[in-house]
Amino acid sequence: MSNDFKIEYLKKLIKFNRGIYGAFAGVVIFAREADITKSTFLVFYYVSACVLFALADQYLFVYKVKTSEKNDTRYPYKLIRIRTYIYVLLISVGSIITELKHILLLAAFLMCIYTLLQDIMLCDVFNYLSNMARLLTVMFVATAIIFFARFGRQLDGIWILTFVFTEAIVLIIILVMYDIYCWTLKNLDNRYTKLYFQNSDLLAENEKLVEFREKVEKVNSEINFQKLNLTKANDDLEKSNEESRSLIEMMKYFSASFDVEKNVHVMIENIMKIKKAGSVGFLIDKGVYMNDSPYLDVISASEGSIRYIKNDLYDIYSAIKRRNSLEPLVLCYNYDYKYPYLTGAENVCNAVAFPAYENDNIYGVMVVTSSKYEFFLNGYSFYESSVMDFTSALISDRLYLVTEDMAKKDGLTKLYNRVYFNQFYPNYKEEVVSRDISLTVAMMDIDHFKNINDTYGHLAGDEVIKMVASVDDKYAKLYGGTAVRFGGEEFLLILKDTGVSRAHDILESMHKEIIESVVEFEDLKIQVNVSMGLASYPETCSKVDDVVDRADQALYYSKEHGRGRITIDGKEGE
Ligand code: GH3
Ligand code: MG
Ligand code: MG
Repeated sequence: MSNDFKIEYLKKLIKFNRGIYGAFAGVVIFAREADITKSTFLVFYYVSACVLFALADQYLFVYKVKTSEKNDTRYPYKLIRIRTYIYVLLISVGSIITELKHILLLAAFLMCIYTLLQDIMLCDVFNYLSNMARLLTVMFVATAIIFFARFGRQLDGIWILTFVFTEAIVLIIILVMYDIYCWTLKNLDNRYTKLYFQNSDLLAENEKLVEFREKVEKVNSEINFQKLNLTKANDDLEKSNEESRSLIEMMKYFSASFDVEKNVHVMIENIMKIKKAGSVGFLIDKGVYMNDSPYLDVISASEGSIRYIKNDLYDIYSAIKRRNSLEPLVLCYNYDYKYPYLTGAENVCNAVAFPAYENDNIYGVMVVTSSKYEFFLNGYSFYESSVMDFTSALISDRLYLVTEDMAKKDGLTKLYNRVYFNQFYPNYKEEVVSRDISLTVAMMDIDHFKNINDTYGHLAGDEVIKMVASVDDKYAKLYGGTAVRFGGEEFLLILKDTGVSRAHDILESMHKEIIESVVEFEDLKIQVNVSMGLASYPETCSKVDDVVDRADQALYYSKEHGRGRITIDGKEGE
């Protein structure tokens, strides 16, 4: 019989047995109280036996159940068997003490059968005849003891026969009952075993399911982790796509524009937008795109920082030039300033300087700052690409600017030529009219220039032209005007928003400088004079379109009246 079933059964049996022992003791006490027996010792004997049985059960069942639970397999068959014999003996021996009256006889008899049945069940002896025979012998002896103790003195032949006959019938009945009992127990055990195995199958299945579930959970969490990775990779891809698109858009803009400064602004604006930087500043050295002075542009999320970045950009550029490396220079990493730059600017957690270079020559620098930690974690490629794209646009812009400049300017003097004058002068006229300001034009012509050519040669003549042009250019720059080589050795100085009297003063200084200048050519020292004519809208000339003609007429007047002088339109006689 399966161990589990036995353990379960023993737990129930121990309670049930106590009830039976109690009932037996109760019957004995009742028999004494009702005067069925006169023996107080018998009561004492059976009650003590019941207590002893209960205690023995306690030891055998409870204690042994516990050890069985631990060791799982061993079961105290021998002890159970000895228990059966002792119990039956003790119950039978009771009848030797005194005569057992009917009720006690029946009770003792039932107790014996009850004990024997337990033996069968607990020792798994369902159908072994030898065992059955042994038990029946015990039963027979017990019954005989009870019977002879009760009726021994009155027995004769017919009584013995009756006893044997009765015993035989009782034993046959017991045999049949035993069979039924065995059959029932066996079935019960089979069903239990089947259920037990089904249960253990189920448990094993369950264990497998749990294992499988754990695996599924593990795979699930791995999938989730991969999903996260994939989402991040997707985000990164989208970001880099966006960056590429923005670079392409920027390139498109650059290819349509020849304005270098506008390009700088578009680039730094793009970086601010795409990278969400704190600030971006760009510095280009002078002369890179025919610019007279360095060019600087800064965009910042915090207005207060712009001043500091503008200030420090020059020093950063010098440092970059000194370092002479084309690699980005980390200025500040997570609030750790590596150089004493940008320390005054607000919210600078990270800052990197990117050299802008052309054929390994550094011509400028871009500085990007951010208030965020690990801002440059994804590298510098976007910033470097931006600067490189800008540089390639700058190279073609410069080519365009140089070509345009060559077209606008005269090769000998570098002043604007007549062709370009014809282009811009109408805008000047429009502007002064709309702004209601004056437009003054001075025209000058070198006196007796043919003689210089004739006397010293054309090359000497060229040097003289260059000298006069450079003075014209100098005064134009000084007073915000425009110098033009109008003809062979004829020049213009155009001054906006400058009245006649001031223009006259300027011309006088200029005239003085020209006549005092000595042109040295080979061993020669040449000095020249110029004649000038001046007209001004609206002061001397009410029609803006007539100013150049009127200046020409004034110049003609100067030539006609002794040369080397300045004539103001309308004031020829003065
Ligand atoms: P005037 O005082 O009346 O102006 O006398 P002028 O000799 O200067 O006469 P004019 O202005 O007509 O002379 C123009 C001369 O300038 C003619 C031409 O040979 C000379 N010329 C024009 N362009 C150049 C140039 O680029 N180089 C040289 N060396 N001579 C030039
Ligand atoms: Mg001349
Ligand atoms: Mg001339």
